[in-house]
Amino acid sequence: MFKLSGWDKAAFTAYVLQHPEVLRLGSEGVAAYAREPLVAVCGFVDSLQSSIARGQLPLRREHVLFFNTQRPDEVIVNMSRVMQVDVLDPWALSSAETLAREQIFAILDFLRRDVPGFSGANLISSGARVGIRESRRIVGDYMLTARDVLSAARFPDAIARSAYPIDIHALAPDQAGDYDRGLPAGQAYDIPYRCLLPQKVDGLLVAGRCISTTVEAHASTRVSPTCMAFGQAAGTAAALAARKGLPPRQVDIDELRQVLVRQGALLS
Ligand SMILES: Cc1cc2nc3c(=O)[nH]c(=O)nc-3n(C[C@H](O)[C@H](O)[C@H](O)COP(=O)(O)OP(=O)(O)OC[C@H]3O[C@@H](n4cnc5c(N)ncnc54)[C@H](O)[C@@H]3O)c2cc1C
Repeated sequence: MFKLSGWDKAAFTAYVLQHPEVLRLGSEGVAAYAREPLVAVCGFVDSLQSSIARGQLPLRREHVLFFNTQRPDEVIVNMSRVMQVDVLDPWALSSAETLAREQIFAILDFLRRDVPGFSGANLISSGARVGIRESRRIVGDYMLTARDVLSAARFPDAIARSAYPIDIHALAPDQAGDYDRGLPAGQAYDIPYRCLLPQKVDGLLVAGRCISTTVEAHASTRVSPTCMAFGQAAGTAAALAARKGLPPRQVDIDELRQVLVRQGALLS
């Protein structure tokens, strides 16, 4: 991820409204875009793919993807991609980081050249470290599955809820991603407290993208807001456990859920 300043939002918006096909916007989409500025922009597939085919961009990525920030001339770009790295090997991780940083400059050249509104853009920051979508996870007292996600499963020990779809990014250049499996509109699934409890370790709570899930369920639970909810639940459970002198596995789940509801961290 990297951040650019000097983005000309007015020029970008004017271009999109004249060429809505670049964002695959139908007439309703154009009307909505004209009414309200987008938070996320995903498109320009043809320009990106022809630049990749011409050898100007050394990466495999499906579309241009960037996000508004609270400053009108700044955007955050999510377009670099490094694949097939063993992130548990520090040397491989260092190489991935070098490659990702090289990609940033190629992507910036492409955006300045081929995407309206970016000709005056400048790089102002990039991630402190290369981002990793998936690595180790614990095996917990419960392992959340794709079936739980897609069926909007409910659990008596729910400590968080999510409606994010299964979003598996391509793992190799010749593979496709798996982005299209979502829940029915308006539904959400529960994440049980047991996913935070490592099966074979006492006195430890785990939060974030390493909780106990299958690969597919992880591709939904890993997103930032859901990870924040695990952190809130784990911290609260740790406080209750410490107050009562109990291990996390013996925390009263009803009390934990009531406290999370009172905090506004969980819907009752
Ligand atoms: C390129 C990319 C794009 C993404 N886009 C999105 C998106 O658009 N929306 C979304 O919701 N999610 C997105 N995600 C997923 C999401 O960012 C992560 O899954 C999520 O941040 C994981 O949260 P976490 O708390 O488990 O880990 P992190 O957010 O990685 O937090 C772990 C923290 O621990 C710190 N740390 C590590 N080791 C130590 C140590 N020894 N001592 C002290 N601190 C340490 C790290 O510095 C870091 O701050 C994206 C991920 C990537 C890689």
